[in-house]
Amino acid sequence: MNIILFGPPGAGKGTQAEYIVNHFGLAHLSTGNMFRSAIQNKTSLGIKVKSILDAGELVSDDVVVDLVQEETTKDMYLAGCVFDGFPRTVAQAESFDHMLANKNTAVDALISLVVPEEELINRILSRGQGRSDDTVVGVKNRLTVYENETKPVLDYYEKQGLVNFIDGTGSVESVFERIKNVI
Ligand code: AMP
Repeated sequence: MNIILFGPPGAGKGTQAEYIVNHFGLAHLSTGNMFRSAIQNKTSLGIKVKSILDAGELVSDDVVVDLVQEETTKDMYLAGCVFDGFPRTVAQAESFDHMLANKNTAVDALISLVVPEEELINRILSRGQGRSDDTVVGVKNRLTVYENETKPVLDYYEKQGLVNFIDGTGSVESVFERIKNVI
């Protein structure tokens, strides 16, 4: 089972991804976590993407797609995966579909967490995880990038009938209950 966990920054994708993988025994692939770990370890990828993450911009499609392509060759992804923060552009979604088709698999569902913008900004600025992109400017830019470049991914998967909107407000547990019902 391959699930895309979708939504704007601050919607709770990372938290819900953990709940889903624990409950359903799936792998978790977060491109954001992979980039942050590359930055922390000062790898050549990390050095290349640091200023992009700090600015809240998107890493180029070819870099992201290569990263996911390489990562998903690992056996741990065979039983299925929660994709968190990927795909984030229509070009990534198209490449992703090809990638999965080559492995004789496909996206089973997209879960889109819906949270009002004001709450997103409050959540991010108060989550205190010390992320270097969690500044007012960084957050606003990530929301703009989401609107312009990432939201069209919804239309792409809507055409395949895979999109499920979930109310992302309320307690973590109540959001997870809604997700479980959809899955
Ligand atoms: P996230 O943890 O998913 O919010 O991602 C943090 C940052 O990593 C984003 O603001 C982007 O700079 C970068 N990033 C993560 N995933 C992607 C992706 N699929 N495409 C492009 N950039 C990404």
